[in-house]
Amino acid sequence: MNRGVEDHIVTHSRPSELEITDLRVATLRRPPFHSTLIRLDTNQGISGYGEVRDGGSRTYALMLRSRLLGENPCNVDRIFRKIKQFGHHARQAGGVCAVEMALMDLAGKAYGVPAYMLAGGKFRDRILCYCDTPNEADGKAMGEKLRQRRDMGFGFFKMDIGIGQLRGVEAAVSAPPGMLATNQVMHPFTGIQITDRGIDALCQYVSDVRSILGYDVPLAADHFGHMGMESCIRLGKALDRFNLAWYEDMIPWQFTDQYVRLSEAVDTPICTGEDIYLKEGFADLFGRRAIAVVHPDLASSGGILETKKIGDLAQERGIAMALHMAMSPVAALAAVHCAAATENFLALENHSVDALEVWSSLVEGLPQPLIQDGHIQVPETPGLGFSGLDEDVLNRHLDPDGPGCFAPVTGWDEDRVNDRLWS
Ligand SMILES: [Mg+2]
Repeated sequence: MNRGVEDHIVTHSRPSELEITDLRVATLRRPPFHSTLIRLDTNQGISGYGEVRDGGSRTYALMLRSRLLGENPCNVDRIFRKIKQFGHHARQAGGVCAVEMALMDLAGKAYGVPAYMLAGGKFRDRILCYCDTPNEADGKAMGEKLRQRRDMGFGFFKMDIGIGQLRGVEAAVSAPPGMLATNQVMHPFTGIQITDRGIDALCQYVSDVRSILGYDVPLAADHFGHMGMESCIRLGKALDRFNLAWYEDMIPWQFTDQYVRLSEAVDTPICTGEDIYLKEGFADLFGRRAIAVVHPDLASSGGILETKKIGDLAQERGIAMALHMAMSPVAALAAVHCAAATENFLALENHSVDALEVWSSLVEGLPQPLIQDGHIQVPETPGLGFSGLDEDVLNRHLDPDGPGCFAPVTGWDEDRVNDRLWS
């Protein structure tokens, strides 16, 4: 048999000789947002898939190519430790995390086990999803929309409550000139404050939503707007009576002292985490018991294994873990394996409920749609669990400004540098 033919045989039989031979990318535009799929190819005909976080750059993955070629992808933790210095908080973690997902996919395929087995086995067979829902201007209309999702089988919800909804409401917000028009100033520095009238308007909105959705299901809240912590406390106290599941990212995650004060001032669980990179990034918030719910996105927090560690550490501190997710089924399935393998787990976010069939159809070999009765079944097939990507669906959602569909990559396979962080 000549080598060309042998290269295309899926052997699954020599994990110890498996080598990464290529990293390629395909950038998607919805649903739900822009993201980049990566594919790691090997010398044994199997490929692994990962995803750079929504809003991140494919460059974050491509720059790792030179560090991956020739490595055995089954050494997931060893490779992760080699490349994690090239990630950072929020979107900048996207390349490292995408590679971790693809390594877990490959290692699972090489050994013939689902990714959750590589993380120690599972705690549950299906993963509860919560649906984020774009807001309606009117609280009653929003309540109806959420009730429709409840009728679809969802049992955990999220919506926005914030000063963004108060445009057009007179005297709802006090703000320095021009400050409401920018989103580049962190909350403590904007000088924006909510008024009693603004608080009343938001409370009426939530009251209308709850009157239709009911009080017997969890409803979380996000996107309060870039106002100072004192305004968050005043609004938070007023909203406490609606029994919300959590207040998310009311202030930037970096301000642990403000999180402590916020948590002590209100009676609703305080949540943050979707922009934090690596377990050590969460340590201060956990150590100070500054939050009640941690909400990592494994495309920012470090991938499947690191996020399981984050969940375990949170559990020791009495902090519940939910998972942020706003990407394609590739990242969603990585999150599913993490959620299966982590005891401390509340619910996994989904942003694509309005396009569930299309969103689900990107991956082949799994139940369609992926979410049924508000849950994703944990795959028992190797790696992340899908057998392949549907090329038609993939091509229909390719970013026209992107590099094409896993086209050959040039220019990222050599980089003579000293990566050591110490002397
Ligand atoms: Mg959020």
